[in-house]
Amino acid sequence: MTDHVLTLNAGSSSLKIGLFTAAAEPEVRATGAVERIGGAAALTLEDGAGATLGTRDLGEGGADHAGALDAALAMLREHFPEAGIAAVGHRVVHGGQDHDAPVRLDDAVLARLAELEPFAPLHQPHNLAGVRAARAAFPEAVQVACFDTAFHRHHPFVNDVFGLPRELYDRGVRRYGFHGLSYDYIAGELARAHPALHAGRVAVAHLGNGASICGMVQGRSVASTMGFTALDGLPMGTRVGQLDPGVVLHLIEQEGMSAAEVTGMLYKRSGLLGLSGISNDMRTLEASDDPRADEAIAYFTFRIRREIGAMAAAMEGLDGIVFTGGIGENSARVRREVCAPMSWLGVALDAAANEAGAARIDAGGDVGVLVIPTDEERVIARAAAAALG
Ligand code: AMP
Repeated sequence: MTDHVLTLNAGSSSLKIGLFTAAAEPEVRATGAVERIGGAAALTLEDGAGATLGTRDLGEGGADHAGALDAALAMLREHFPEAGIAAVGHRVVHGGQDHDAPVRLDDAVLARLAELEPFAPLHQPHNLAGVRAARAAFPEAVQVACFDTAFHRHHPFVNDVFGLPRELYDRGVRRYGFHGLSYDYIAGELARAHPALHAGRVAVAHLGNGASICGMVQGRSVASTMGFTALDGLPMGTRVGQLDPGVVLHLIEQEGMSAAEVTGMLYKRSGLLGLSGISNDMRTLEASDDPRADEAIAYFTFRIRREIGAMAAAMEGLDGIVFTGGIGENSARVRREVCAPMSWLGVALDAAANEAGAARIDAGGDVGVLVIPTDEERVIARAAAAALG
């Protein structure tokens, strides 16, 4: 029976897969991941409750994206032989100027998305490789692309533009914003469980290995800290965040670095890793007694605070803050260091609730502060199920 949907999230060296029922509110049956594609690739599969169903070593250099998908599907079929796949939902980082919602994939749409590869060279080609592999594996299934940019497509002009010559804007050099699937999920949770906040002005901080903040008014994005690429805004695990473009010119013209070397530095060797010289992982930094770890965390939390202030200005007020992502959901220290110096904005934390990891952590001030675990896969599964009509 074709009563299931599959979600696929293909990164540069990883592939995440999810099996859901094809219901309006899909139920998760299994999630899996292949890590280190191209290296010592390994597959794990868990059931909906997080219990391990299986692991498999795919060998050194033994899998490309198509091989990773084959291995993941073989393990899924072993555990869920009855599950037919009616639709596949794909995470695609860039939808360009046009797409403000998920779209059914056909040859023409796929060709247009491939034209956006220069806008997201580290992600888009891998996302589309996943699409091609899934089309080959499930020729009868509906294929749906869900974009990280779509949630932000209706920003006002002033939040969509850079102060560059106008023709660059017309050629697509715009502030696209990313992490849209996560923000879409949070907007839905606010509407469901916190309607008063949903109707107001909320700064949603998605803090994981990638990090950004979205200014949300009445559940719609009006501003994002991420810009033309997922490099802008907050410092991240290994990405630099906001940077004076003069630094890039200096590195190329005075230090003689190539464009590829600068790219590697800004994407892979900056942020928490670059500043601390220790790790990109917040847990490791919090456990360290090296002062550089404290300084890296201090810079991270300062920039989050600064950008929440900027979002309050963009939204003309602030009714709520939501923390999500691996760091936002789990680090009481980061939430405390972000919120404590913001009493001037009406932010007051309930220290005990914050340490306990409660869902609501404000002390009843003007600004509601929530912790909401995000679920990007569920947003993709909903879109895939909806495409089945
Ligand atoms: P994500 O990219 O959303 O999976 O988030 C990954 C980040 O979350 C890494 O920096 C982890 O160290 C961080 N993280 C996960 N659990 C915790 C925790 N209990 N305390 C602090 N940071 C955490």
